[in-house]
Amino acid sequence: MVTGKGRCNITQAEFNSKELADKFGKEGRFLLYALSVFGPKQVIEFFENLKLKTKTERGGRVFPKSDKAEDVLQVLRCYLVKNGVKILVNKKVKKIIKENNRIVAVLTEDGEKIIADKYIIATGGKAYPMFGSTGDGFVWAKNLGHTIIKLKPALTPIKIQEKWPKEAQGLTLKNVLLSIYENGKKRDNRFGELLFTHFGISGPIVLDISKTVGEFLKLRKNNGEIKLSLDLKPALDLETLDKRIQKDFIKFNRKLFKNSLDDLLPQKLIDIVVKLSGINGNKQVNEITKEERRKLVKLLKNLEMTPIELLGFNKAIITAGGVSLKEINAKTMKSKIIENLYFAGEIINLDGPTGGYNLQLCWSTGYVAGENTSQ
Ligand SMILES: Cc1cc2nc3c(=O)[nH]c(=O)nc-3n(C[C@H](O)[C@H](O)[C@H](O)COP(=O)(O)OP(=O)(O)OC[C@H]3O[C@@H](n4cnc5c(N)ncnc54)[C@H](O)[C@@H]3O)c2cc1C
Repeated sequence: MVTGKGRCNITQAEFNSKELADKFGKEGRFLLYALSVFGPKQVIEFFENLKLKTKTERGGRVFPKSDKAEDVLQVLRCYLVKNGVKILVNKKVKKIIKENNRIVAVLTEDGEKIIADKYIIATGGKAYPMFGSTGDGFVWAKNLGHTIIKLKPALTPIKIQEKWPKEAQGLTLKNVLLSIYENGKKRDNRFGELLFTHFGISGPIVLDISKTVGEFLKLRKNNGEIKLSLDLKPALDLETLDKRIQKDFIKFNRKLFKNSLDDLLPQKLIDIVVKLSGINGNKQVNEITKEERRKLVKLLKNLEMTPIELLGFNKAIITAGGVSLKEINAKTMKSKIIENLYFAGEIINLDGPTGGYNLQLCWSTGYVAGENTSQ
């Protein structure tokens, strides 16, 4: 229900299976088979056949046409009911009982024993534990003999040292470019949407670059410097932007500097940019020197921020790490350790970027695990 800001980014339609798998890094190969049998095309067909209309937005992001995550839930719920699936809610599994190399039952918190031929663990990761994914499945898998690759929060917002992002909290910027610099060297960048918050920055491009930021923060030598640079006008180079500002300054030449940026910037950023530019906001535009204007242009192309740390599991979108891929059969999702156990979803050691990749991982592995447990 909270996915895609309540709209549920169901899947990712821009890439073929191979390209899609590559987005999960070197571990992505594990997904090739699952994506070939139940990839984005099949997911869209599945939902459309259940009368959930979908639409594809920029960057291949697929959403329900209604923009309501709730509709995805309804469709899935109806599908389960129609197929005679018994749904038990508010039934916490406490323990998995194993005999030899087989699971013989699961024990719920209220003392019920559930017995089945085959079991799928699909308890998700540890991100946003308030929504139910508290990481229990990792403990069970470990106790059953599986290796758990170190769990880390992934796709996380970033805490920023400077105070000004806080002043812009709630503001979303579209089509901006965020780059990471290590000791002045550009290391990575992302283009798209960014959100200012009370602790720093969030939004798709921030979540996507957070892994790299986390790695550089960890690797940072004592006096090393990690900076983020926000380009507010990536479509314009310095010269073009300068010309654009000159035009604005001619248009507003009798206005005060602080009142001259309305065409260029969202309201919430104007005071911040004026302050950061070092130009007196009460100066009349026609008194601004060429040097000052140039400084402003550079600032708009490079708003610098110092990342302090990534936010933890409570604010992470997904969990990196999980049940080792070496111990799961990629064609069946069957455990290589326990005879009648399967895995699906985020519990598996795979994590993708934002854009529908992570739910696609769940649909694909869930489909394969389901096909192999229903025989
Ligand atoms: C805010 C937010 C927005 C997101 N938006 C998107 C998006 O738009 N697109 C996208 O692709 N991905 C998105 N993701 C990621 C995506 O939601 C997850 O990767 C995905 O839901 C994981 O699915 P899962 O089935 O593996 O686990 P989950 O969806 O976490 O489900 C696990 C289930 O197991 C249950 N469970 C756990 N422990 C127990 C227990 N002991 N007993 C009984 N039940 C238990 C939980 O209650 C839960 O219902 C988002 C994540 C967050 C947090």
